[in-house]
Amino acid sequence: MRILVSNDDGIYSPGLAALARAASRFGDVRIVAPDVEQSSAGHAITHSKPLWYRRVRTIKDFEAYRVNGTPADCVALGAFQWGKVDLVLSGINLGPNLGNGIWHSGTLAAAKQALLLGIPGIALSTPVVSDEPDFAALEPHVAEVLRLLFSEHRLPLVNVNLPPTPRGMRWTRQAVERYDGKVVPGEDPMGRKHFWFTVEPLEENAEDTDLWAMENDFISITPLRLDLTDHRELERLRTSNPFVAADVANGTPPKKAARG
Ligand code: MN
Repeated sequence: MRILVSNDDGIYSPGLAALARAASRFGDVRIVAPDVEQSSAGHAITHSKPLWYRRVRTIKDFEAYRVNGTPADCVALGAFQWGKVDLVLSGINLGPNLGNGIWHSGTLAAAKQALLLGIPGIALSTPVVSDEPDFAALEPHVAEVLRLLFSEHRLPLVNVNLPPTPRGMRWTRQAVERYDGKVVPGEDPMGRKHFWFTVEPLEENAEDTDLWAMENDFISITPLRLDLTDHRELERLRTSNPFVAADVANGTPPKKAARG
């Protein structure tokens, strides 16, 4: 099995090497990661400048490359260069990727990019409590999670978050409760105004969510999909306005104004 390992923290992150070590129990590992940190880059891709990669020899025992691009670029380029890739692992991110944080996450984007190419993707993250996470202690848990996910053959996209000392695992859903995206103004040493975007949850987390699991020291495993369509709303709209689609197909404008 060919396993491509990437991340959004950059090629020199200790979490990347830890994930490569855990993955090497299961197949051939190659690392392709951004040359600088790309946290919160989301699913950006580079379209206005050329991409390149360079061999990195500092990650012991692994063939590794750094790329002057985003996490999604790394997966696209890595899969292209290696040929048939069976699985993409992204992480282990220094910091959790839970709830609405998923929207901004470069770690998740690498796994999503894999799925866009038809390759299963798994994103893994862990909080930074004080110093660096204890990756040696986490490694058996990571291996256990991977073993479990490999036994579930059809999971195309998975988000895994590991607490520092896990007491079990939970299948979870993404928490989509609102957050307080407050912008906090400040001032730099030259007296110029600057701003920080902050993210504070506003609501309690329901017990089946990724946020709840992590707050309670469980490994959170969320199966995800790329389809953002609200299928229930789509069905309702097709029932309440069935003529819209027919009119558009006939080249005539819809007779009834869209609602909302
Ligand atoms: Mn990151």
